[in-house]
Order: sequence, then C-alpha cells, then structure tokens
Amino acid sequence: EVDVLQHVDIAEDKLLGGLLADGFDEQSCLSRYQSILYRKALPYKPSPYLVSKLRKYEDLHKRCGPNTPSYNKAVEQLKSGSNVVGTTDCKYVVWVWYSGLGNRILTLASVFLYALLTERVLLVDRGNDMANLFCEPFPERSWFLPMNFPIAKMFNSFDQKSAESYGNLLKNNMIKASMGSLPSYVYLHLAHDYDDHDKLFFCDDDQALLKRFTWLVVKTDNYFVPSLFLMPSFEDELKKLFPNKETIFHHLGRYLFHPSNHVWGIITRYYKAYLAGADERVGIQVRVFDKGPGPYQYVKDQISACTIGEKLLPEVDTRRLAVNPSKNPKVKAVLMTSLVYGYYENMKNIYWEHPTVTGDIIGVHQPSHEEQQRSEKPLHNMKALAEMYLLSLTDVLVTSAWSTFGYVAQGLGGLKPWILYKSENQTTPNPPCQRAMSMEPCFHAPPFYDCKAKEGIDTGKVVPHVRHCEDISWGLKVV
Ligand code: GDP
Repeated sequence: EVDVLQHVDIAEDKLLGGLLADGFDEQSCLSRYQSILYRKALPYKPSPYLVSKLRKYEDLHKRCGPNTPSYNKAVEQLKSGSNVVGTTDCKYVVWVWYSGLGNRILTLASVFLYALLTERVLLVDRGNDMANLFCEPFPERSWFLPMNFPIAKMFNSFDQKSAESYGNLLKNNMIKASMGSLPSYVYLHLAHDYDDHDKLFFCDDDQALLKRFTWLVVKTDNYFVPSLFLMPSFEDELKKLFPNKETIFHHLGRYLFHPSNHVWGIITRYYKAYLAGADERVGIQVRVFDKGPGPYQYVKDQISACTIGEKLLPEVDTRRLAVNPSKNPKVKAVLMTSLVYGYYENMKNIYWEHPTVTGDIIGVHQPSHEEQQRSEKPLHNMKALAEMYLLSLTDVLVTSAWSTFGYVAQGLGGLKPWILYKSENQTTPNPPCQRAMSMEPCFHAPPFYDCKAKEGIDTGKVVPHVRHCEDISWGLKVV
C-alpha cells in the first residue's frame, strides 16, 4: 500500500529516473509525481540519451509552441497557402483526434516519437476530451493546438480520399523534390485504410521530401513505431534512444500521459478500496470483438483455461465446501475490465462458491460495465482511462488479442501479458492464451514494402527485433 512504499526515495524516484522534468506545479497534476506511490519499482530506466533528448524537446516546445512568435509566423505561412522553404524556424506535426481512447494513446506516442526523430513540435487536437483526460506533459507551453488554428475545421473531413494527403499529392503529381513552391501543409493519412501511396511515408526518400514542409497533419489509428525501426534514416537514433527496444511505449507513455486530477481520483480511490490490501494483483482485460454484446460461455471458459492453466490463479475444489486455511493463505485481487458484467460475475461466483485448492482467497472486482463503446462521452472515457491505468498497476496481466486498451495497460505497467487469443467461430481457442514476447504494442496495419527494391517484402522478417505479433499474424511489433 501507499504507506508501505514510503521508504522509496520519493524525491529521487518521482521523476522516474529522469524521464520527467522537475518543476511542474504538483497540485495541478497530482498523478505526475504520485504515480511512483502506486507502481512498484520497475527495472526499466530511460537511457541518458532519451532523457537529454526529452529535455531538448521541451526547450524546442517552449520556443516554438502555441502563440510564440515562431508559431505565429508559421501560422501566417499556413494561411498564405504555400510553403516557402526556409522562412520559418520551427516545424510542426499536428496529431488529429481520431478513434478509440486506447488507439489515441498509442498514436499520440507514435507521433511524438516521430516529432522527436524529425525535430518537429507536436501539437495536439484536443477533440472533446483530451484536456479533461490528461495533464499537460511539457513545461510552460501547452501541447494543445489553439482553438483558432486555421485548418482545424477540416480535420474531421480528412480521409483517404483527401486531395491534401501525401498519397494523393504524389498520385496527382502535385509534389516533387524539384519543386520550389509546395502546398502549405501535407495531410498524412496513416489510418488502417491507407493505400500504397500513403504508405510511402515509411520510406527514407519520402521523409526527405516531407522534411521541407513546415506543417504536417496526421490522422492515424495505428501504433506505427515498429515501421520507423525499419527505416535506415531513423534506425541509429532509435537504437540510441532505446537501447532496450521493448521499452519505447513504456517510457514515452509514462512521459506523456499523466491522468488529470479528476481521473487520478477515480484511479486512486479504486486502488485503495479494492486492490491495495491484496498480496498480489491480477489484471484481466476482456475485450470481445464478436458481433453481439455477450457474455459468451466460450470466453468464460477461455479466461479460466488461461488463468488456471498458466497458474495465474488457483483452481477451485468443487467437491469440498470448505478447506482448513493453509498456513499462509494469500489474498489475490483480480481486477477485471470489460464492457459487460457477465465475465466478472462468473469468476466472482466461482471463487465465492468454492474454496481454492491452495487455500488462497480470490477477490474479484470490476470497476464499470459500460455495455457499449461511447468514445464521445467524457465520463465514459475517464473511466476507460482509469481502467487502463489500474490494469497497469497489477502484478500479473491477462489481455485480449487485438485490443489497444490492453496494449496501453501492458506498456504503462512494463508488463508482458498473457494474451487471450481471438476466437474463431465462437469456440474457445486452444491454447487459450500465450505470453507476449515483449511489452510493446502491435502495429496492426504495417506496410509490406521494400523502399529500396521497390517491391513487396515480409517486413516481419527483415530484422530480429521487429517481428509479427502474437495476436495478429500480419501485425508488427518491436521485441
Ligand atoms: P480497442 O478498441 O480495444 O483497441 O480500444 P480503444 O480504447 O481504442 O476503444 C475501445 C473503447 O471502448 C474504449 O476506449 C472504451 O471507451 C470502451 N471500452 C472497451 N473496453 C472497456 C472496458 O473494459 N472498460 C471501459 N470502461 N471501457 C471500455
């Protein structure tokens, strides 16, 4: 519990090994420096190179961020309609609000990494909830795009067909390396339905062209970091930033995403009431992508087969009504998250109605059952964030295949989860789950293209540290 952790040298560790900048107002964002009280000490330290890169980024953001003279100048250029190379001293990448919360957290981290690699300033389209969910991550200057940003009204309409997209500009011969005058911004369509031209974003020659633009605007629902690793122009820098490759989202996520005070209250009250007292915390994230709402018997069976088969939870003895308590019975708290109630109810009853063979006591808890995804509702998203965060505070984690909600939890928590396989034909998969190779999220829609040879390749077989994912055979993840 919090008291037990008081011995940690808080003053030293509250900055997470130098990951966080010092000097923020603590009251305005309690989670920033309090997270250390809830997360057990993790072995993954940020590299000194990453730490210095972040401090440099913070300086850049201070100098170029919203409403600075440099920003105002760049906005003037944007309004003028053409990009005159060399007239502005700061370059920007704008992240557009799009998709579910788990996706958004992953894409924002991806775009921030791209900003670090290309020395651009990240600006965030706040949508209807970003400001309520998260604290500001950078000192002094906001990361939010000012409300009066000239092309903000167009964000919603940007899609694969947009004439301003990089893919379509290329297709229509609207940009070439030789051109003196370029459009005033490029829209990067990196969402799941992007085409081969859009995917050229992941080629070095195209990056050289994109470098000339002051303004890039990105819409994506994918964690595209694994493909950055396959680009020679970024590879060396990425290796220096992340000598331990599987910690990219772990560090960037804890650097960027500090729950707002409202969400932090939701997290910490729940933690103290239901999780703090246990000897061990087991998180189980249940996300079923079948058509109906569920609950499904085959998923209930899968959860038991995985947690018992992998010895994450003990079996129950259905023949006995009570057992003599063992000498040191452990109390395990299971934190289950799901849109529906049924999986929780099933597991709670199993451990209530029967004793465990080990004598351990299993308490099962589920914070909410929202029934449906409602990404436009503010309190709904606060609860979703709180639940991802609570899952990240567990000692042992089980997640669902395909779900970015689970990826966020595993990454923030530095946990290699057991992944419940996606079922085919409503049957329990066998085996029911597999331990993840790394804590990194999976890139669900990567390109399969060799930029040099200009032909298709299996990008999951190019380097040993970028492989196909456990849960999506065509996806890519860093291991
Ligand atoms: P993904 O669809 O699983 O990749 O995750 P996203 O977070 O992008 O989108 C799913 C959304 O559905 C979440 O953001 C929540 O709004 C909602 N949701 C899904 N599962 C849960 C859950 O276990 N708890 C809560 N509170 N919301 C959930």
